[in-house]
Amino acid sequence: MTQSSQSLFAEHAYLPGGWRRNVLLEWNAEGTLTTVTPDSTAATPGVARAAGPVVPGMPNLHSHAFQRAMAGLTEYRANATDTFWSWRDLMYRFAARISPEGLAAIAQWLYIEMLKAGYTSVCEFHYVHHTPDGSRYANTAELAERVVDAAKASGIGMTMLPVLYQYSGFGARAPRDDQQRFINTPESLLDLLDRLRTARAEDASLRYGVAPHSLRAVSGDSLRALISGLDTMLPGAPVHIHIAEQTAEVDACLETEGARPVQWLLDRFDVDARWCLVHATHVDAAETAALAKSGAVAGLCLTTEANLGDGIFPAQEYLEAGGRFGIGSDSHIGVDWRSELRLLEYGQRLSRRQRNVLASADATHVADRLFAASLDGGARATGRAVGALQTGHRADWLVLDADHSSVAEHAPDAWLSGVVFCEHGETPILDVYAGGEKVVDNRRHRDEERAYSQYRIALAELLK
Ligand code: ZN
Repeated sequence: MTQSSQSLFAEHAYLPGGWRRNVLLEWNAEGTLTTVTPDSTAATPGVARAAGPVVPGMPNLHSHAFQRAMAGLTEYRANATDTFWSWRDLMYRFAARISPEGLAAIAQWLYIEMLKAGYTSVCEFHYVHHTPDGSRYANTAELAERVVDAAKASGIGMTMLPVLYQYSGFGARAPRDDQQRFINTPESLLDLLDRLRTARAEDASLRYGVAPHSLRAVSGDSLRALISGLDTMLPGAPVHIHIAEQTAEVDACLETEGARPVQWLLDRFDVDARWCLVHATHVDAAETAALAKSGAVAGLCLTTEANLGDGIFPAQEYLEAGGRFGIGSDSHIGVDWRSELRLLEYGQRLSRRQRNVLASADATHVADRLFAASLDGGARATGRAVGALQTGHRADWLVLDADHSSVAEHAPDAWLSGVVFCEHGETPILDVYAGGEKVVDNRRHRDEERAYSQYRIALAELLK
């Protein structure tokens, strides 16, 4: 790398604490920020200038890559009452047809879409492990490796979370035939993870953890065995779980386990900052307060939760209790962190008939508060040093288009409001840097034409 490719001058950059002027960003060959200097001089020779205001890249804390290929294909009525569960039957039929090559093409296109939208990290909750009939690939980590390779090729940072899916329901019910591609024991899943990290070693852009799928898909004993095995291999690595997306699973948990899912987990496990509870949608007041206190991250996936008709998370109470959250695009019905944050606030506005619900006395601009909180919570969920323009963190950021109508002529304290709440024309995100590399230049990813044509071939094959 030349010296000029390792430094960038930004007239305005969003540092921890807010907007600063004349910020010099410098990073090393590994893609890690080495200095972040506000109030610096602009005229250093050889230093490139950012084309507009610079903000940190957003972590995407929840993704099922293959589901990208289903987006837009389940928006019709197939039953008198369509629900999450009827959608899941369609999704399983789709998952049954995915090939290793198809998954690689879908994942790579998805990660390019994420980068273009300003997501610079992704947590992949990866559960399609085996061949369509449930037998193992010669390399049990075959599909996970394809997904890791797709992330590397696109330039996005990844936290790969192989999923333990063991049972079809509470009470250790046997898996269904259409779940055979997902099924492992704690031992076989840990073995898969060990192969994976041997073949694709952790580095500054790749980290591993695990994802027990949900309390319906694991037992208390298997969850304990999984975490203890993980701690032998990768102490303190991230643990993500789907927790309370559906009222039916809350009811089933109450019936078989005698407690609501979040309460059950908090009572039995040492839930702390390494945990991400995805879709903590259905929580009562005591669970909301206890989850906030635990330091775990609530993984909110607003566009998917709206698309699937899940319900509305009590965001105001949770934020008032000091709870942390991040956002994920999950089923990828949309891939845009701005929509996730907008919908987070709009769900509250519509149900309360108020405005600016998620602002606070200290942070009166809703977008600024939600942006800062989702950077912080999302970064925590990745287990990587991301989500802030500060020394030692990844050189991940977005350059906004200063001429875009959501930003132009506005004062800096209104920029994030325009970026998050306005939907006018093309994205205001102009350039994207991930690990110090400019992977999106003037709204185009370096590899987007090739990846899109591969994606279309994979999709045509799936829909044949
Ligand atoms: Zn999910």
